[in-house]
Amino acid sequence: MSARRTKIIATIGPAQDPEGALERLLDSGVDVLRVNLSHASPRAQAARVQRARAHRPDIAILADLAGPKLRLGELADTQVKEGDTVVLGSGGVPVGDPSLFDRVRVGDPIFVADGTIDLVSTEVRSDRVICRVRVGGTLRSRKGINLPNDASSLPALTDKDRADLADLDVLSPDFVAVSYVRHERDLAEVRRLTPHPVVAKIEKQQALERLEAIVDAADVIMVARGDLGVEIPIERVPATQKRIIRVANRVGRPVITATQMLVSMVSNSLPTRAEVTDVANAVLDGTDLVMLSEETAVGHDPVGVVQMMGRLLAETEPLLQPHEGPPRSQPGNALAYAAATLADDLDAAAIVVPTRTGISAQRLAAFRPHRPILAYSRDPQTTRRLRVVWGVTPIDLEVTRGLDPLHATLEAARRDLPSGARVVLLDIAADGAIGVPSLVNAITL
Ligand code: PGA
Ligand code: MN
Repeated sequence: MSARRTKIIATIGPAQDPEGALERLLDSGVDVLRVNLSHASPRAQAARVQRARAHRPDIAILADLAGPKLRLGELADTQVKEGDTVVLGSGGVPVGDPSLFDRVRVGDPIFVADGTIDLVSTEVRSDRVICRVRVGGTLRSRKGINLPNDASSLPALTDKDRADLADLDVLSPDFVAVSYVRHERDLAEVRRLTPHPVVAKIEKQQALERLEAIVDAADVIMVARGDLGVEIPIERVPATQKRIIRVANRVGRPVITATQMLVSMVSNSLPTRAEVTDVANAVLDGTDLVMLSEETAVGHDPVGVVQMMGRLLAETEPLLQPHEGPPRSQPGNALAYAAATLADDLDAAAIVVPTRTGISAQRLAAFRPHRPILAYSRDPQTTRRLRVVWGVTPIDLEVTRGLDPLHATLEAARRDLPSGARVVLLDIAADGAIGVPSLVNAITL
């Protein structure tokens, strides 16, 4: 049983193509695999996901929808420098989506390649935008375009997203991530099309303006720092990350901190001082999960990155203070809080939680108890979903004849913990965790 509390998401990609590479990544301590649908369809990724599940049936799968990301079309590498004129569209650099021309007004900034190339539009036509280069670089095929001033009301889901959602069954994901969420309505639309829990990626200024409502409407939140750092001034990213995490923590919504966490390890064997400090600070901010992107998808040593991340998290977590957590006027929260403090006072080996839907374990985790949380469920979907919750070790509970979930949990905990270990057992009836005989909320020693 791992002592690490913060969970790790690893993005899969070409780095897992070599024989055994995916299996080694799964063995290195990742909790969730992220399948990025920006460059592939669910079908194209299905074989990989099946291999992952065959090796580790308990792994959670996050399918990340591409969303309405604008990209350059296919072109030969083109150098541009400050002061140059560049035409995007007809007669110039091809763009993947003609909606660009409706979304830009004269004077708007246009960022290319994660904001590294900075253009300003000087003339907008129906089939092209003429720009002046403010910061140059190399324009390459399929590089992303960001329009921070774009206030158009484009649909949240593209045709590709809809097609991917219709095809998601081939991956049977545990979570679906929605890119460029601007409004809680965007999540409602996704929920109409998929039964899976939804991750809201916060990467637009508009999302920050609706943050509380979006956090409320989502199952999981992602601080998507990659696009966020282009869509808002990059110097606002640290304060914004802290705000998003604070809002998510307050309602006990799991939150992911994503992008460039250990990015120098794509090609180096050690991270920078700034990167390790950033990861540690995300933990102290209250993140539930950290995400690796290129580091594991295309990096030279995905296993080394995950191991480094694991050591870094384990080293930092002892500094974490218990959280204020969600309002304790709600009985389930009050019980969870009481169990957490009781476990501390009695120096319990663990807090044991029978849980049907996972909500009880999630409530408890929101208070960031020092003691390990062992969450037992008969539903493998619940245990996989609990992979995203800070501090929770999800354990599949075998269905034993004649034993109700509460007693089956106690039996299993006896097997999993050293004999004589003191445990606090939290059973929140509102969760529906106890089937029989009565609906009693209980904290038991
Ligand atoms: P992406 O999302 O990698 O799918 O763009 C994460 C981010 O923008 O940080
Ligand atoms: Mn993004």
